[in-house]
Amino acid sequence: MHTLPSYLDPQHLGPWGIYLQQIDRVTPYLGSLTRWVETLKRPKRALVVDVPIALDNGTIAHFEGYRVQHNMSRGPGKGGVRFHQDVTLPEVMALSAWMSIKNAAVNVPFGGAKGGIRVDPRTLSQAELERLTRRYTSEIGIIIGPTKDIPAPDVNTNEKVMAWMMDTYATNIGETATGVVTGKPISVGGSLGRREATGRGVFTIGTEAARRTGLSIAGARIAVQGFGNVGSVAARLFSEAGAHIVAIQDHTGSVANDKGLDMAALQAHVAAEGGVKGFKSAQDISSSDFWSTKCDILIPAALEGQITQDNAGLIQAQMVIEGANGPTTPEADDILKDKGVLVVPDVIANAGGVTVSYFEWVQDFSSFFWSEEEINERLVSIMKKAFASIWDTAQQHKVSLRTATYIVACTRILTARDLRGLYP
Ligand code: NAD
Repeated sequence: MHTLPSYLDPQHLGPWGIYLQQIDRVTPYLGSLTRWVETLKRPKRALVVDVPIALDNGTIAHFEGYRVQHNMSRGPGKGGVRFHQDVTLPEVMALSAWMSIKNAAVNVPFGGAKGGIRVDPRTLSQAELERLTRRYTSEIGIIIGPTKDIPAPDVNTNEKVMAWMMDTYATNIGETATGVVTGKPISVGGSLGRREATGRGVFTIGTEAARRTGLSIAGARIAVQGFGNVGSVAARLFSEAGAHIVAIQDHTGSVANDKGLDMAALQAHVAAEGGVKGFKSAQDISSSDFWSTKCDILIPAALEGQITQDNAGLIQAQMVIEGANGPTTPEADDILKDKGVLVVPDVIANAGGVTVSYFEWVQDFSSFFWSEEEINERLVSIMKKAFASIWDTAQQHKVSLRTATYIVACTRILTARDLRGLYP
């Protein structure tokens, strides 16, 4: 028996170790497919690239870039690209594996992939950022493509970065290739509804979970961490459905209003001031007061590792809907379970973004674009169907929604693996 590299060891602390523990937890439910489970514990392919760029001052800087294709049994790789100073290979491996699970959970025909560059993009000018993006795209160009692996935005990457990636790839192969990335601007093959899709998915799944537990959204009290793309859209949709958004936290601070915050006014305040802190029609509160807000639903929609053993005990919500990726540590998950808090996991709650990315990819292939109404209708229908099968699986096996999502997703991935067989 050979020893595993430390990051393939389930005891290794960090996102990849957490992912491996999640796979161990689901293994007893996989029946004869257990034969294939080892496939899920290793990425299919991991590419590490050097990304050299000329800085504006004429010197050359080198950055480390990654693209990991975790599993492609169900279709091409799909997952975002992150620019962050803390990006590491094991982190990208975990993020790519979670994409395999997420894509299978909503049953879109993709495998899982993820990419990133270890860089603090705030230290670069726009021109440097463009050179970095284009060189990275060229370097990973040997493994990406509309039928191979399709990147998308993630932390610190956006529509503009996707336009550069698409242009670089298309220029290199000498063809139009809008389907090589999703999350593009509308005018170069992007999809209507993509920007709001993740928040809309969080709202849809939250509403479905509430209905099944007898909680009425009208009048429900909701606290949201993160008021960016995901948090602000989810908060607005819940508020429009009659819920009271009683507290919000972002990187500038936490604000609360017991009668409910005015979403349009808060959005205007954030646009002007860069954060929620100091919003007039609210009280500024401490971070621990935010976590202990008396509410029905708590939506972490900022970063990973936010609900930990230090603050999980403070939470008073009946339900946590994970808008962010990996916001709850395994220790906090256990504390919430003991308190009877229902946790709706990221791999289903925030899958609305990749679902509309799938629509964008389909529209790019057919060069025929759908209305926003069609997009939203199809999004809601896919999310509701996916959640129903996860809910039923949780009831049937008496397991958490997280384990149930893994049962549904891993069964789909490994069934595909089993049917395809091994080559040679
Ligand atoms: P964003 O950059 O638009 O917003 C992030 C928000 O989090 C901001 O309001 C910021 O102030 C807040 N924040 C940052 N640091 C914080 C801190 N230390 N404490 C409290 N708040 C803090 O990002 P986003 O696109 O909304 O993504 C949020 C999360 O959702 C991430 O985990 C991301 O991976 C996940 N996600 C996003 C999408 C998508 O389509 N955008 C899809 C799936 C998952």
